[in-house]
Amino acid sequence: MEQRLEGTTLSRRGFLRAAGALGVAGFAGASLTAVAASQDAQADPGENETHGFTYHNEHCLCNCMLDCTVRDGRLAMVQPRENEDKRFQNVCLKGISEVQNIYGESRIQRPMKRVGERGSGEFEAISWDEAFKTIAEEFKKCQDTYGKDALWIQFSTEASQRFPPLLASVLGAQAGGMNGYDLGQGNGQSMAFTPWIGLFAQNTMWEWPEAKVVILANTNLVETSLVWSRGMLNAQEAGTKFICLDPRFSPTASKADQWVGLRAGTDPAFFLGMTNYILENDLYDREHILAHTALPFLIEADTGHSLADVAEATNPETGEPMEVKTFYVWDESAGKAVAAETEGIVAALEGTFTI
Ligand code: SF4
Repeated sequence: MEQRLEGTTLSRRGFLRAAGALGVAGFAGASLTAVAASQDAQADPGENETHGFTYHNEHCLCNCMLDCTVRDGRLAMVQPRENEDKRFQNVCLKGISEVQNIYGESRIQRPMKRVGERGSGEFEAISWDEAFKTIAEEFKKCQDTYGKDALWIQFSTEASQRFPPLLASVLGAQAGGMNGYDLGQGNGQSMAFTPWIGLFAQNTMWEWPEAKVVILANTNLVETSLVWSRGMLNAQEAGTKFICLDPRFSPTASKADQWVGLRAGTDPAFFLGMTNYILENDLYDREHILAHTALPFLIEADTGHSLADVAEATNPETGEPMEVKTFYVWDESAGKAVAAETEGIVAALEGTFTI
Protein backbone atom coordinates (compact mmCIF):
# COMPACT_ATOMS: atom_id res chain seq x y z
CA MET A 1 0.00 0.00 0.00
CA GLU A 2 1.31 3.44 -0.89
CA GLN A 3 1.97 5.84 1.94
CA ARG A 4 1.12 9.50 1.30
CA LEU A 5 3.32 12.18 2.76
CA GLU A 6 1.49 14.71 4.83
CA GLY A 7 0.85 18.01 3.07
CA THR A 8 1.76 16.71 -0.39
CA THR A 9 0.24 14.55 -3.05
CA LEU A 10 3.52 12.75 -3.30
CA SER A 11 3.59 9.08 -2.39
CA ARG A 12 6.39 7.73 -0.21
CA ARG A 13 7.71 5.77 -3.20
CA GLY A 14 7.54 8.87 -5.41
CA PHE A 15 9.19 10.95 -2.71
CA LEU A 16 12.06 8.53 -2.37
CA ARG A 17 12.50 8.32 -6.13
CA ALA A 18 12.50 12.11 -6.42
CA ALA A 19 14.84 12.43 -3.46
CA GLY A 20 17.19 9.88 -4.97
CA ALA A 21 17.14 11.63 -8.30
CA LEU A 22 17.78 14.96 -6.67
CA GLY A 23 20.51 13.69 -4.44
CA VAL A 24 22.91 15.05 -7.01
CA ALA A 25 21.50 18.55 -6.68
CA GLY A 26 24.42 20.74 -5.91
CA PHE A 27 23.58 23.26 -3.26
CA ALA A 28 19.99 22.61 -2.39
CA GLY A 29 19.27 19.95 0.21
CA ALA A 30 17.53 16.81 -0.98
CA SER A 31 14.80 17.03 1.65
CA LEU A 32 13.73 20.38 0.29
CA THR A 33 14.23 19.61 -3.36
CA ALA A 34 12.32 16.38 -3.30
CA VAL A 35 9.05 17.95 -2.23
CA ALA A 36 9.45 20.87 -4.56
CA ALA A 37 10.52 18.69 -7.45
CA SER A 38 7.18 17.56 -8.64
CA GLN A 39 3.84 16.58 -7.37
CA ASP A 40 3.65 14.39 -10.45
CA ALA A 41 6.70 12.42 -9.45
CA GLN A 42 4.52 9.60 -8.12
CA ALA A 43 3.42 8.73 -11.63
CA ASP A 44 5.30 5.74 -12.92
CA PRO A 45 7.54 6.46 -15.87
CA GLY A 46 6.04 4.89 -18.96
CA GLU A 47 6.21 5.02 -22.68
CA ASN A 48 5.08 8.60 -22.66
CA GLU A 49 8.09 9.87 -20.77
CA THR A 50 10.73 11.94 -22.52
CA HIS A 51 13.53 14.17 -21.36
CA GLY A 52 14.27 17.67 -22.53
CA PHE A 53 17.59 19.35 -21.90
CA THR A 54 17.71 23.06 -21.41
CA TYR A 55 19.07 25.63 -19.03
CA HIS A 56 17.50 27.97 -16.54
CA ASN A 57 17.41 31.43 -17.98
CA GLU A 58 19.50 34.00 -16.33
CA HIS A 59 17.67 35.16 -13.26
CA CYS A 60 20.99 35.00 -11.51
CA LEU A 61 23.55 34.32 -14.26
CA CYS A 62 24.15 30.79 -12.96
CA ASN A 63 22.34 29.36 -16.00
CA CYS A 64 22.00 25.91 -14.46
CA MET A 65 21.76 23.12 -17.02
CA LEU A 66 18.56 21.21 -16.54
CA ASP A 67 17.22 17.75 -17.28
CA CYS A 68 13.44 18.07 -17.60
CA THR A 69 11.25 14.99 -17.39
CA VAL A 70 8.10 15.28 -19.49
CA ARG A 71 5.31 12.78 -18.96
CA ASP A 72 2.24 12.74 -21.17
CA GLY A 73 3.17 16.11 -22.56
CA ARG A 74 3.46 17.68 -19.14
CA LEU A 75 6.61 18.78 -17.33
CA ALA A 76 6.86 16.43 -14.37
CA MET A 77 10.28 16.97 -12.84
CA VAL A 78 13.31 19.23 -13.12
CA GLN A 79 16.75 17.98 -12.15
CA PRO A 80 20.29 19.22 -12.61
CA ARG A 81 21.69 17.81 -15.82
CA GLU A 82 24.43 15.19 -15.51
CA ASN A 83 27.82 16.74 -16.04
CA GLU A 84 31.23 15.15 -15.70
CA ASP A 85 32.44 18.42 -14.23
CA LYS A 86 30.43 18.51 -11.02
CA ARG A 87 31.07 22.22 -10.62
CA PHE A 88 28.47 22.73 -13.33
CA GLN A 89 25.92 20.22 -12.13
CA ASN A 90 23.67 22.51 -10.15
CA VAL A 91 20.18 23.65 -9.54
CA CYS A 92 18.47 25.62 -6.80
CA LEU A 93 14.93 25.71 -5.50
CA LYS A 94 13.96 28.33 -8.05
CA GLY A 95 14.98 26.05 -10.89
CA ILE A 96 13.26 22.92 -9.68
CA SER A 97 10.13 24.90 -8.83
CA GLU A 98 9.48 25.54 -12.50
CA VAL A 99 6.90 22.75 -12.46
CA GLN A 100 4.83 24.72 -9.98
CA ASN A 101 5.66 27.96 -11.73
CA ILE A 102 4.45 26.73 -15.11
CA TYR A 103 1.28 25.03 -13.92
CA GLY A 104 0.49 27.26 -10.96
CA GLU A 105 -3.07 28.52 -10.81
CA SER A 106 -1.98 32.11 -10.39
CA ARG A 107 0.24 32.09 -13.46
CA ILE A 108 -0.99 34.48 -16.12
CA GLN A 109 -1.19 32.46 -19.32
CA ARG A 110 -2.65 35.04 -21.70
CA PRO A 111 -2.35 38.79 -22.23
CA MET A 112 -4.69 40.70 -19.92
CA LYS A 113 -6.27 44.04 -20.73
CA ARG A 114 -7.46 46.38 -18.02
CA VAL A 115 -11.15 47.07 -18.45
CA GLY A 116 -11.97 48.90 -15.21
CA GLU A 117 -10.51 51.97 -13.53
CA ARG A 118 -6.82 51.89 -12.80
CA GLY A 119 -6.44 50.05 -9.52
CA SER A 120 -9.81 48.34 -9.76
CA GLY A 121 -8.16 45.02 -10.60
CA GLU A 122 -10.57 44.40 -13.48
CA PHE A 123 -8.93 42.71 -16.43
CA GLU A 124 -10.05 40.54 -19.31
CA ALA A 125 -8.04 38.07 -21.37
CA ILE A 126 -7.29 39.12 -24.94
CA SER A 127 -5.57 37.37 -27.83
CA TRP A 128 -1.86 37.74 -28.51
CA ASP A 129 -2.74 39.38 -31.85
CA GLU A 130 -4.76 42.03 -30.07
CA ALA A 131 -2.03 42.56 -27.49
CA PHE A 132 0.67 43.10 -30.15
CA LYS A 133 -1.63 45.37 -32.15
CA THR A 134 -2.42 47.49 -29.08
CA ILE A 135 1.25 47.83 -28.15
CA ALA A 136 2.25 48.73 -31.72
CA GLU A 137 -0.49 51.37 -31.93
CA GLU A 138 0.59 52.94 -28.66
CA PHE A 139 4.25 52.96 -29.72
CA LYS A 140 3.32 54.61 -33.01
CA LYS A 141 1.08 57.18 -31.34
CA CYS A 142 3.87 58.13 -28.95
CA GLN A 143 6.50 58.44 -31.68
CA ASP A 144 4.22 60.30 -34.13
CA THR A 145 3.34 62.82 -31.43
CA TYR A 146 6.64 63.36 -29.65
CA GLY A 147 9.37 62.04 -31.95
CA LYS A 148 11.00 58.64 -32.34
CA ASP A 149 13.30 58.92 -29.37
CA ALA A 150 10.44 59.80 -27.05
CA LEU A 151 9.85 56.07 -26.79
CA TRP A 152 11.93 54.36 -24.13
CA ILE A 153 12.31 50.59 -24.02
CA GLN A 154 13.22 49.68 -20.48
CA PHE A 155 14.75 46.30 -19.90
CA SER A 156 16.05 44.34 -17.00
CA THR A 157 17.74 41.11 -16.05
CA GLU A 158 15.72 38.59 -18.00
CA ALA A 159 15.89 40.11 -21.44
CA SER A 160 18.63 42.61 -21.00
CA GLN A 161 21.04 41.47 -23.64
CA ARG A 162 18.72 40.27 -26.32
CA PHE A 163 15.50 41.55 -27.79
CA PRO A 164 14.83 44.96 -26.18
CA PRO A 165 18.00 46.70 -27.38
CA LEU A 166 17.35 45.38 -30.89
CA LEU A 167 13.74 46.52 -30.76
CA ALA A 168 14.82 50.00 -29.72
CA SER A 169 17.31 50.34 -32.56
CA VAL A 170 14.76 49.14 -35.12
CA LEU A 171 12.21 51.67 -33.86
CA GLY A 172 14.66 54.53 -33.39
CA ALA A 173 13.68 54.53 -29.73
CA GLN A 174 15.86 54.89 -26.67
CA ALA A 175 16.66 51.92 -24.50
CA GLY A 176 18.26 51.32 -21.18
CA GLY A 177 18.14 49.01 -18.29
CA MET A 178 19.66 47.85 -15.13
CA ASN A 179 20.01 44.40 -13.81
CA GLY A 180 17.38 43.81 -11.25
CA TYR A 181 17.93 43.00 -7.63
CA ASP A 182 17.38 39.36 -8.46
CA LEU A 183 20.74 39.34 -10.16
CA GLY A 184 23.63 38.48 -7.87
CA GLN A 185 25.74 41.34 -9.13
CA GLY A 186 26.77 44.62 -7.65
CA ASN A 187 24.21 47.34 -8.13
CA GLY A 188 25.20 50.95 -7.88
CA GLN A 189 28.90 50.78 -7.24
CA SER A 190 29.85 49.20 -10.51
CA MET A 191 27.65 51.60 -12.43
CA ALA A 192 29.35 54.53 -10.75
CA PHE A 193 32.73 53.39 -11.91
CA THR A 194 32.37 51.48 -15.15
CA PRO A 195 29.74 50.70 -17.74
CA TRP A 196 28.10 47.32 -18.13
CA ILE A 197 31.22 45.20 -18.06
CA GLY A 198 31.89 46.45 -14.57
CA LEU A 199 29.15 44.17 -13.34
CA PHE A 200 31.27 41.15 -14.09
CA ALA A 201 34.46 40.22 -12.35
CA GLN A 202 37.27 39.43 -14.72
CA ASN A 203 38.18 36.33 -12.76
CA THR A 204 35.82 33.48 -12.13
CA MET A 205 34.76 32.29 -8.72
CA TRP A 206 36.78 29.11 -9.28
CA GLU A 207 39.88 31.27 -8.87
CA TRP A 208 38.74 32.68 -5.55
CA PRO A 209 40.65 30.10 -3.48
CA GLU A 210 43.85 31.58 -4.95
CA ALA A 211 42.99 35.04 -3.62
CA LYS A 212 43.83 36.30 -0.14
CA VAL A 213 40.82 38.59 -0.07
CA VAL A 214 37.68 38.89 -2.19
CA ILE A 215 35.57 42.03 -1.94
CA LEU A 216 31.92 41.47 -2.76
CA ALA A 217 30.50 44.86 -3.64
CA ASN A 218 26.76 44.76 -3.01
CA THR A 219 26.66 41.22 -4.28
CA ASN A 220 24.25 39.02 -2.43
CA LEU A 221 25.12 35.73 -4.07
CA VAL A 222 24.15 33.52 -1.15
CA GLU A 223 20.56 34.55 -1.75
CA THR A 224 20.38 35.46 -5.39
CA SER A 225 22.95 33.36 -7.24
CA LEU A 226 22.66 30.44 -4.95
CA VAL A 227 24.94 27.94 -6.64
CA TRP A 228 27.73 30.50 -6.79
CA SER A 229 27.82 30.58 -3.03
CA ARG A 230 29.59 27.21 -3.27
CA GLY A 231 32.54 29.09 -4.79
CA MET A 232 32.56 31.44 -1.83
CA LEU A 233 32.34 28.68 0.78
CA ASN A 234 35.03 26.59 -0.93
CA ALA A 235 37.33 29.59 -1.04
CA GLN A 236 36.72 30.33 2.63
CA GLU A 237 37.70 26.75 3.43
CA ALA A 238 40.89 27.35 1.46
CA GLY A 239 41.62 30.42 3.60
CA THR A 240 40.34 33.26 1.41
CA LYS A 241 38.79 36.10 3.40
CA PHE A 242 35.60 37.70 2.12
CA ILE A 243 34.61 41.31 2.74
CA CYS A 244 31.01 42.09 1.90
CA LEU A 245 29.99 45.68 1.17
CA ASP A 246 26.26 46.10 1.52
CA PRO A 247 23.98 48.52 3.35
CA ARG A 248 21.96 45.45 4.36
CA PHE A 249 23.11 42.64 6.59
CA SER A 250 22.37 40.26 3.76
CA PRO A 251 22.73 36.46 3.90
CA THR A 252 26.05 36.93 2.07
CA ALA A 253 27.16 39.50 4.64
CA SER A 254 26.32 37.02 7.39
CA LYS A 255 28.67 34.43 5.81
CA ALA A 256 31.45 36.89 4.99
CA ASP A 257 34.49 37.33 7.22
CA GLN A 258 33.79 41.04 7.41
CA TRP A 259 30.66 43.07 6.70
CA VAL A 260 31.04 46.73 5.80
CA GLY A 261 27.58 48.24 6.23
CA LEU A 262 27.96 51.21 3.92
CA ARG A 263 25.40 53.96 4.07
CA ALA A 264 23.45 53.78 0.81
CA GLY A 265 24.83 56.23 -1.75
CA THR A 266 28.28 56.49 -0.21
CA ASP A 267 29.84 53.69 -2.23
CA PRO A 268 31.63 55.92 -4.80
CA ALA A 269 33.19 57.88 -1.92
CA PHE A 270 34.20 54.60 -0.30
CA PHE A 271 35.98 53.41 -3.45
CA LEU A 272 37.62 56.77 -4.07
CA GLY A 273 38.83 56.66 -0.46
CA MET A 274 40.29 53.20 -1.06
CA THR A 275 41.98 54.44 -4.23
CA ASN A 276 43.41 57.42 -2.40
CA TYR A 277 44.75 55.23 0.39
CA ILE A 278 46.40 52.88 -2.12
CA LEU A 279 48.07 55.80 -3.90
CA GLU A 280 49.11 57.66 -0.74
CA ASN A 281 50.64 54.56 0.78
CA ASP A 282 52.32 53.34 -2.38
CA LEU A 283 50.41 50.07 -2.31
CA TYR A 284 49.93 49.71 -6.04
CA ASP A 285 51.78 47.43 -8.45
CA ARG A 286 53.81 49.89 -10.51
CA GLU A 287 54.87 47.40 -13.19
CA HIS A 288 51.32 46.22 -13.72
CA ILE A 289 50.00 49.78 -13.96
CA LEU A 290 52.60 50.79 -16.52
CA ALA A 291 52.11 47.70 -18.65
CA HIS A 292 48.35 47.28 -18.53
CA THR A 293 46.54 50.52 -17.70
CA ALA A 294 46.01 54.02 -19.04
CA LEU A 295 47.32 55.66 -15.86
CA PRO A 296 50.61 56.85 -17.40
CA PHE A 297 48.80 58.58 -20.30
CA LEU A 298 49.32 62.34 -20.32
CA ILE A 299 46.26 64.49 -19.64
CA GLU A 300 45.88 67.97 -21.14
CA ALA A 301 45.48 70.31 -18.19
CA ASP A 302 43.05 72.69 -19.89
CA THR A 303 40.67 70.06 -21.34
CA GLY A 304 41.07 67.09 -19.01
CA HIS A 305 41.32 64.84 -22.08
CA SER A 306 44.09 62.36 -22.82
CA LEU A 307 46.75 63.84 -25.07
CA ALA A 308 46.41 61.91 -28.33
CA ASP A 309 46.97 62.06 -32.05
CA VAL A 310 43.97 60.92 -34.01
CA ALA A 311 44.50 59.39 -37.44
CA GLU A 312 41.90 58.28 -39.98
CA ALA A 313 42.16 54.62 -40.95
CA THR A 314 40.07 51.81 -42.39
CA ASN A 315 38.82 48.92 -40.34
CA PRO A 316 40.50 45.88 -41.95
CA GLU A 317 37.58 43.61 -41.05
CA THR A 318 34.62 45.76 -42.05
CA GLY A 319 36.18 48.24 -44.47
CA GLU A 320 34.50 51.03 -42.49
CA PRO A 321 36.41 54.23 -41.70
CA MET A 322 37.75 54.35 -38.15
CA GLU A 323 39.92 56.51 -35.89
CA VAL A 324 43.24 55.30 -34.53
CA LYS A 325 44.48 57.13 -31.43
CA THR A 326 48.07 57.37 -30.32
CA PHE A 327 48.35 58.27 -26.65
CA TYR A 328 51.38 59.90 -25.08
CA VAL A 329 53.33 59.33 -21.89
CA TRP A 330 56.23 61.23 -20.35
CA ASP A 331 59.48 59.33 -20.81
CA GLU A 332 61.44 60.10 -17.64
CA SER A 333 64.83 59.06 -19.01
CA ALA A 334 64.54 61.11 -22.22
CA GLY A 335 62.65 63.99 -20.59
CA LYS A 336 60.04 64.25 -23.35
CA ALA A 337 56.60 63.06 -24.41
CA VAL A 338 56.59 59.92 -26.53
CA ALA A 339 53.95 57.57 -27.89
CA ALA A 340 52.80 55.17 -25.18
CA GLU A 341 53.80 52.09 -27.20
CA THR A 342 57.43 53.20 -27.54
CA GLU A 343 59.76 50.38 -26.51
CA GLY A 344 62.22 50.71 -23.64
CA ILE A 345 60.86 53.88 -22.03
CA VAL A 346 60.29 54.59 -18.34
CA ALA A 347 56.91 56.35 -18.19
CA ALA A 348 56.16 58.83 -15.41
CA LEU A 349 53.10 58.21 -13.30
CA GLU A 350 53.04 61.67 -11.75
CA GLY A 351 54.15 65.16 -12.66
CA THR A 352 53.31 68.28 -14.69
CA PHE A 353 55.11 68.73 -17.98
CA THR A 354 55.24 71.39 -20.67
CA ILE A 355 55.12 70.03 -24.21
S1 SF4 B 1 20.82 28.99 -9.36
FE1 SF4 B 1 18.63 28.66 -9.37
S2 SF4 B 1 17.74 30.52 -10.28
FE2 SF4 B 1 19.92 30.50 -10.79
S3 SF4 B 1 19.98 29.50 -12.82
FE3 SF4 B 1 20.29 27.90 -11.25
S4 SF4 B 1 18.27 27.07 -10.91
FE4 SF4 B 1 18.00 29.03 -11.93
